[in-house]
Amino acid sequence: MGDYTAAAVASIAFGLPEPVVDGNVYRVLARVFGIADPIDSTTGRRTFRELAARLLDPADPGTHNQAVMELGALVCTPRNPACSACPLAARCIARKQDRIAGLPVKQGRTRVRDRWFHYVWVEQDGGIFLRERPAGDIWQGLWEPPLIEGTRQLGTRAMATALKELTGSGPWKLQGPLHEVRHVLSHQHLHTRFWTAEAPAGLRPPKDWQLVPLKELGRYPLPRLVERWVEMHLRG
Ligand code: SF4
Repeated sequence: MGDYTAAAVASIAFGLPEPVVDGNVYRVLARVFGIADPIDSTTGRRTFRELAARLLDPADPGTHNQAVMELGALVCTPRNPACSACPLAARCIARKQDRIAGLPVKQGRTRVRDRWFHYVWVEQDGGIFLRERPAGDIWQGLWEPPLIEGTRQLGTRAMATALKELTGSGPWKLQGPLHEVRHVLSHQHLHTRFWTAEAPAGLRPPKDWQLVPLKELGRYPLPRLVERWVEMHLRG
């Protein structure tokens, strides 16, 4: 009988204080506590097991174990977790730090992926364009200025061409890159550049661009990396 089965039988059938640590539990603990120790390493497994043991409710270990397993299976799923319905959302470190997609970490398959993000602050009629991050990628549900993702770092001319292709309008007069930052997630390195641009006359924005009045910007949750740049930009 493996550790997992033994702990499940001991706690659920016999009420013994044995923490169950299965894939669902690893995921919940890694995210709630923001732990990047690989779950397929000896030290990682020990860390999670010790944490699970400390958290266990000795008065009712079976119900506790089942609750954590079910939270992982039904709410804190590998992709698109239902954070808005999660009872641990307020204390979840991965959620606060935009690290949900990167946790838990597996050393066996962790390959760092480089990505090149190019953001553009496009103003029109006293507002700026934002779009909601799509499902199935980092920062799902957060908002961001128009983004061109490249397979390498792009310069101003390449950006003007990419924006023209994206919107069907132009010419695009860009200023920048005004700011550059490298952001490290557990298996992605984001090389990010920021520009500003005047919206060309007659711009018909793509469907997912939303014009947001500057005074309403605070209502749109942004990834921390973007938020810092927006703050800098607004301060001038
Ligand atoms: S807030 Fe989201 S990521 Fe954090 S534990 Fe809940 S479902 Fe998982």
